[in-house]
Amino acid sequence: MLKIEMKTPLVEMDGDEMTRVLWRMIKDILILPFVDLKTEYYDLGLPERERTKDKVTVDAAAANKKYGVAVKCATITPNKQRVEEYQLTEMWKSPNGTIRAALDGTVFRAPILIPSVKPAVRTWEKPITIARHAYGDVYRATEYRVPGEGKAELLFTGKDGQEYRQTVYDFECPGVLQSQYNKDSSILSFAHSCFRFAIATKQDLWFSTKDTISKQYDQTFKLIFEDLYEKEYKAQFEALGITYFYTLIDDAVARVIRSKGGFIWALKNYDGDVMSDMVSTAFGSLAMMTSVLVSPDGKYEYEAAHGTVTRHYYRYLKGEETSTNPMATIFAWSGALRKRGELDNLPALVDYADKLEAASLKTLNDGIMTKDLVSLCDPELHPVSVNTEDFLLAIKERLCALLSA
Ligand code: NAP
Ligand code: MG
Repeated sequence: MLKIEMKTPLVEMDGDEMTRVLWRMIKDILILPFVDLKTEYYDLGLPERERTKDKVTVDAAAANKKYGVAVKCATITPNKQRVEEYQLTEMWKSPNGTIRAALDGTVFRAPILIPSVKPAVRTWEKPITIARHAYGDVYRATEYRVPGEGKAELLFTGKDGQEYRQTVYDFECPGVLQSQYNKDSSILSFAHSCFRFAIATKQDLWFSTKDTISKQYDQTFKLIFEDLYEKEYKAQFEALGITYFYTLIDDAVARVIRSKGGFIWALKNYDGDVMSDMVSTAFGSLAMMTSVLVSPDGKYEYEAAHGTVTRHYYRYLKGEETSTNPMATIFAWSGALRKRGELDNLPALVDYADKLEAASLKTLNDGIMTKDLVSLCDPELHPVSVNTEDFLLAIKERLCALLSA
């Protein structure tokens, strides 16, 4: 079979533990036999981050900005225990954080659905994509305990020395105090990413905050979105027949639960953190959640939403058979290759990506799945649990059939 050609290299970011093992297997079994793969390779595995003093992550992010499309394997975010385990000289920052900051991007998460795994919410028929603003608010807050009686004030000193001062509270007893901030520029980037992603995927966009209570802070988010929509995106939305819809977060929660799915729900940082866990759990499994980082100027980084699946890796190291679900990582590859194909005008590459996803879904629908899904699956299907390699080989068989059809 003639291999499918590529023009521009994909930025390939390798990672850690079980997902690093999956990465190699997916490439060997499902990609390299079919695609004349061109990548610029960056090893974001923890040993290489340590060796390069994390320069490799910064370089990978720069390459993502240069070429536009990257595919990333899950990576370890070091904590104290990892510093000991890998004998690190420093607790290196989360690679995802570094890449997100470099791209000024928004993360979109969507579940992969199959008919035999029913969402906990019975009305959901299509995926709900969560767009989380990954900057500021409580994640960059300043806070402390108030020791006792006294006055708390919010003070801003302008560059010209002008002071804005407001009393927060006259404390009569001990308590807690917190300040949060965000920037118009970051909110605007978030809004651009959301509108563009809605257009690219032809889905409605919902946005919700608590603007009735937060009359300056959340109201700013609401107004920036509204203004940008009217000025830049309304015509394209109308042409595609999709809508932009703002509502109060309480109302949004009720509507989401009653909906059929099939839209993007944009949320502030904290709301997005919490709601994405709620939505992904209700859809079934973390192993089936895809994730893509989109910058306001249209750069993409595709990955799985889950981590490096450490517990499976330790079993793998002991020589035990593992049944780790590769679906989200496969969809990271297909998403990245499809986007590369679209940007470089390579219909054969787009077609390959579509068929790789179709073959993966067909394998699951035929009842061949990894252990994690068997327990969630409708028993009527009589699912068979297989190890990771056999699962990938079953996909390959179906992919070959689709490609030669
Ligand atoms: P995790 O790797 O997502 O795994 C948590 C548990 O979920 C697993 O132990 C496994 O459950 C199940 N699971 C997740 N993905 C699966 C898959 N593909 N197939 C089958 N089961 C799957 O999260 P974690 O254990 O909290 O974190 C491990 C490491 O990943 C950490 O070092 C963390 O820093 C890193 N991490 C990286 C990213 C990223 O790069 N984007 C994201 C999150 C975490 P069972 O063991 O019960 O089978
Ligand atoms: Mg969370």
